[in-house]
Amino acid sequence: MQSRHAIITVEDYEPFIGQQAVERIMAKGRQLAGRSVAHVNSTYYGGGVAEILSSLTLLMRTLGLDAEWRIIQGPPDFFSITKKMHNALQGAPIRLTDIKKEIYEDVAFQNAVRNRFDHDYVVVHDPQPLPLVQFSRKRGPWIWRCHIDTAQPSREIWEYLAGYIEQYDALIASAEEYLQPLRVPQLIFQPAIDPFSILNRELPEGEVERRLRHYGVPLDLPLVVQVSRFDRWKDPQGVIRAFQLARRKRDCTLVLVGNVATDDPEGPEVYESLLGAKEERILILSGEDTSFVNALQRRAAVVLQKSLREGFGLTVSEAMWKRTPVIGGNVGGIRHQIDDGVNGFLVSSVEETADRIVLLLSDEDLRRRMGEAAREKVRQRFLMTRYLEQYLDLLDGFETHYYLRPGVVGVAAGAERAEPERPVAH
Ligand code: UDP
Repeated sequence: MQSRHAIITVEDYEPFIGQQAVERIMAKGRQLAGRSVAHVNSTYYGGGVAEILSSLTLLMRTLGLDAEWRIIQGPPDFFSITKKMHNALQGAPIRLTDIKKEIYEDVAFQNAVRNRFDHDYVVVHDPQPLPLVQFSRKRGPWIWRCHIDTAQPSREIWEYLAGYIEQYDALIASAEEYLQPLRVPQLIFQPAIDPFSILNRELPEGEVERRLRHYGVPLDLPLVVQVSRFDRWKDPQGVIRAFQLARRKRDCTLVLVGNVATDDPEGPEVYESLLGAKEERILILSGEDTSFVNALQRRAAVVLQKSLREGFGLTVSEAMWKRTPVIGGNVGGIRHQIDDGVNGFLVSSVEETADRIVLLLSDEDLRRRMGEAAREKVRQRFLMTRYLEQYLDLLDGFETHYYLRPGVVGVAAGAERAEPERPVAH
């Protein structure tokens, strides 16, 4: 029996990944026991990076690594600059004035002064804390983990940031298409989900209904759901338009759930721009309650993730894990998550999205088959233990402090060796 405050360990994943994989990962953990590693990002809440770090750092600790999670601080203008950078890395045009660069660099410098990063390994996530490397005394390898779709970055911003990126000892991206010519070893790790988190753990049907009723979600018609930060790249307007087209043919309810990350100042404006569309069958809600999000992803007939750019959509894997078919934008990481027509659909327009909604709402058997295939894909490829193992391989791959052993590559280790899923004991 687990105590009330038990922390999830690699062994808890055994029903999903098999005993061999558990033992292999534990053995790799033992090699690194006692080593210190700091993960650094810019928000403790909102968005996929925070979601991943809260699970990954604890799992690392259960293996004996001295893993920490640090968050950098900054004033609102810093985060408005870094959000612009984020947009530019995803291809939006931006002019980065010298004043903006100065603010960006100053805040990074202040954070380097405020924190001691004397760990054996430091993993810096996304552009906000990127310049820390320049202002800190490196004691071991520093790794930049970029979660953004950088397939077509604005050249100006990329060239500016490359000056920092090249001070790192390795770069991790979420897909091969995101790699740019750089003098740094580059690896591909696809993000993953924690099946035991409040967001993803099993929920009894009664609890699902209670959660949904609590937030006033009507249960008389099928639910079409999108869960996303309020961000234009997630195309919430496109979701509303697709829903309006689809319901001419199939009656349904749209639930658009969103939140605002502390490092994303554009959220409130995007949220307000949607409020005009609210009506009885279009609900626009805040997703601060993660068991509500869990319940919605379970109860939905169809989950959408109609992103226009997406480094990797955790929400896609979350819904697929819950056996809910997902219609995702045919972009970025989503293309690696969904196999079109097999375990979900990939779409490139509002009209196509509407067609797929209608198709899925009209065919319960198709929903069930796609949902099962979706669950299996996540089990094989997108659980946190696979991601953890890639990190262990990478950290272990630094033979000397700064030299990454050739042949350490970001493959989905263990995925193909996973045994079939067994039911979890509750
Ligand atoms: N999320 C949430 N409530 C919301 C919106 C998002 O809990 O209202 C969670 C979502 O379930 C996922 C994460 O925040 O775990 C978003 O990660 P994703 O990779 O989909 O997108 P990002 O925000 O990182 O671009």
